[in-house]
Amino acid sequence: MSALSPVPLPPAALRLAFDATALAANWQALDRLSGAARAGAAVKADAYGLGAARVVPILAQAGCRDWFVAHWCEVPDLLPHVPPASIHVLHGPMNAADVAYARATGVSPVLNSLAQVQRWREAGGGLCDLMVDTGINRLGLPLADLGDPALAGLDIDCCISHLASADEDVAQNAQQLERFNAVRAQVPARRYSLANSAGIALGAPWHADLTRPGIALYGGIVRSELAGVIAPVARPQAAVIQRRQLSAGDRVGYNATFVADRPIAAAVVAVGYADGYLRTWSGRGEFMWQGRALPVLGRVSMDMTIVDATSAPDLAEGDWLDLAYNLPEAAKISGLSQYELLTLLGRRFLREKPRPAS
Ligand SMILES: *Cc1c(COP(=O)(O)O)cnc(C)c1O
Repeated sequence: MSALSPVPLPPAALRLAFDATALAANWQALDRLSGAARAGAAVKADAYGLGAARVVPILAQAGCRDWFVAHWCEVPDLLPHVPPASIHVLHGPMNAADVAYARATGVSPVLNSLAQVQRWREAGGGLCDLMVDTGINRLGLPLADLGDPALAGLDIDCCISHLASADEDVAQNAQQLERFNAVRAQVPARRYSLANSAGIALGAPWHADLTRPGIALYGGIVRSELAGVIAPVARPQAAVIQRRQLSAGDRVGYNATFVADRPIAAAVVAVGYADGYLRTWSGRGEFMWQGRALPVLGRVSMDMTIVDATSAPDLAEGDWLDLAYNLPEAAKISGLSQYELLTLLGRRFLREKPRPAS
């Protein structure tokens, strides 16, 4: 019951079912593959859309001790679950407010430029991380800045760099590793960290002390070495809200991009592009019900998608369908990346917190 209504909110018609056992097993597999290094976890973007509040306690239980988020606004979701110093904020302190928040909470800022280093030192400094750019040209100090006197005396927990193309077999991977090894010789830090999910699969030279898997924790297969090792975690599901019978010649959905050439038993499903089920799935997505594949008919709309349920005569309004959402396969079909497929899934998907361990 809510404060605003004496009647409880009815159940959701969209949910993101979630396999906690697979999530924990994926982290353990990535930690094992990291060899002598420990695996942390990238939990930015609400744990890639799965819900940081349910993901973080499960990974902490599995043994994870380091957490990477992008924005400061993502920190409060983690603070109830893990020690502040184990949270690393990748975007770093952009202004005095960020610095004040880092110092007050004890969260670790990732310093990305000499300006951020200066800002941190002027406020009194303390334990921090340092991002060095070894070739992605995104965030991080350029190698040319590493001799700057402002770096002397910084108390660096993790000295980090980020791989640009670890999901491909290209010369850039060895080049970034070589540069990172030079950084290690030059920048004193407690720990060094280079590899994301794909970087873990590149092998021991890339592992350093701490790895930072994200997508593979959540079921993404970004290199062939991870196939058979990493299990799916998230299963988006949507309820049928109406069934209707189509005759030959009937047009379906906006702009009538599908016209029935025979009688079709259609079902209207409560998911649309506002939920991240983008229009790219129009005419090519599928939903699964009791082992049967129900193809999408016509355009995906904002809140609804229409499917061909002729093969499922028993399917009723209120029944739940699984989106066909095997990440590597869905990426090929949709043209979206596995990362986009997860982080797109909108707020209307119910993300249930795990039941407390009994
Ligand atoms: C997102 C991110 C990761 C995780 O990358 P995956 O490819 O999802 O494993 C690691 N490190 C940094 C700096 C990131 O921004």
